Amino acid sequence: MKIAVVGTGYVGLVTGACLSDLGNNVWCVDVNEEKINALKNGEIPIYEPGLEDLVMNNFRAGTLKFTTKIHQALADSDICFIAVGTPMGEDGSADLHYVLGVAESIGQYMDHHMYIIDKSTVPVGTAQKVRAKVQEELDKRGSSLTFDVISNPEFLKEGTAISDCQRPDRIVIGTDNDNAAKVMKELYLPLVRNNENIIFMDIASAEMTKYTANAMLATKISFMNEISNICERVGADVNKVRLGIGSDKRIGYSFIYPGCGYGGSCFPKDVQALIKTSKDFGYTTKILNAVEEVNFEQKHVIPRKVVERFGEDLTGKTFAIWGLAFKPDTDDMRQAAAITIINELTKRGAKVKAYDPKAEKEARVCYLKDNKNVEYCDSKYTVLVDADAMILVTEWKEFRQPDFIEIKKRLKNPVIFDGRNQFDAHSLSDKGFEYYQIGVSSKL
Ligand code: NAD
Repeated sequence: MKIAVVGTGYVGLVTGACLSDLGNNVWCVDVNEEKINALKNGEIPIYEPGLEDLVMNNFRAGTLKFTTKIHQALADSDICFIAVGTPMGEDGSADLHYVLGVAESIGQYMDHHMYIIDKSTVPVGTAQKVRAKVQEELDKRGSSLTFDVISNPEFLKEGTAISDCQRPDRIVIGTDNDNAAKVMKELYLPLVRNNENIIFMDIASAEMTKYTANAMLATKISFMNEISNICERVGADVNKVRLGIGSDKRIGYSFIYPGCGYGGSCFPKDVQALIKTSKDFGYTTKILNAVEEVNFEQKHVIPRKVVERFGEDLTGKTFAIWGLAFKPDTDDMRQAAAITIINELTKRGAKVKAYDPKAEKEARVCYLKDNKNVEYCDSKYTVLVDADAMILVTEWKEFRQPDFIEIKKRLKNPVIFDGRNQFDAHSLSDKGFEYYQIGVSSKL
């Protein structure tokens, strides 16, 4: 099939690469010239495991092409995915400026029937807005071309995006049109297993499904973080409580790990957007507001523990940070807990040394660029030298089983704050460490 994917970020580039790998001819379009030039030169602008090989193989085979010119891609496509960003607007709503900008361009340049597929995460009612925008542009040029707008939200997870895309748990298609449904079925046929993982529904329900999934996951995290805060105060160990409740099949073990707060490009903005959509439709959310409130406070739990241990004035203290990305296996730092933790420490006078296997550039040029009290190091051990304590923020694999003798040798004090409860408290105590975790009442 002939496909254009507009927006070459985490979702667009992965989608484009996976669809071309299945044998389709795909144009990836982006307004960011630097990004497109880099891709044409074989450089992948983001870190995602397996993406480089997938992109390069299909680029070399000529089935995956890159352009900044949407008209070039549309002329050679029957299907156009919209996969641009929908960042949080000032009032919490999803900013549809980029999505509608693409709809406008499609209306201006399409020269035959198009299936327009909304892959960006957008509030209920957006497909109608996209339809109206495309039609407005067609009307302006007196065109009688026809098109269909379909909702096909994306559920990939950064860090495992390729396998999520190639073996999806579910493909949600929102359409009001049998013909569009047929085309989508044909497009996704290679990824459908026994008709089980493709779900057709109306457009509003498809749009709502994506927000509901993210809100549910964010709720599980905040719920468990709230429980961890109670555990700490009552003298319980959240790690044991987690095992105790996860063994109930109705609850299960997934997504009930306590931590230092969720981040990323999706959960924070999607929960906010759902709160705003509800408000626009006259309903005041209660659970969702609490999910966000708990998460905001959770990002301050590690700084609070540091202050309890070292005092409010952290002048002269240095902290070694393990991990900056909002989660492992990505360089994405949008809304990462590390940003809050680092800024809270440096505003109290501390210096921070940071190491992340992939996200250093994002931190330097974007998310911590104004914080002059951060020094970046090139390994998990060098970052520890002369630090007063180590703080684990992102659970990269290389942090899971470190050499604690090396850690102890380098730190000024054998103190570890663990924002992801990765280590064994008794074993660290035996090795002479002070170990602070989330949701455990006493230091060991
Ligand atoms: P991103 O910020 O990584 O990429 C968006 C890209 O769109 C950028 O490269 C930008 O230059 C480009 N763009 C903006 N306007 C454009 C235009 N008019 N024409 C062409 N390109 C344009 O965003 P992302 O993380 O890939 O997210 C895209 C959408 O998918 C969002 O709605 C997001 O909520 C949703 N989503 C993201 C994830 C994720 O894990 N990142 C998962 C599921 C869904």
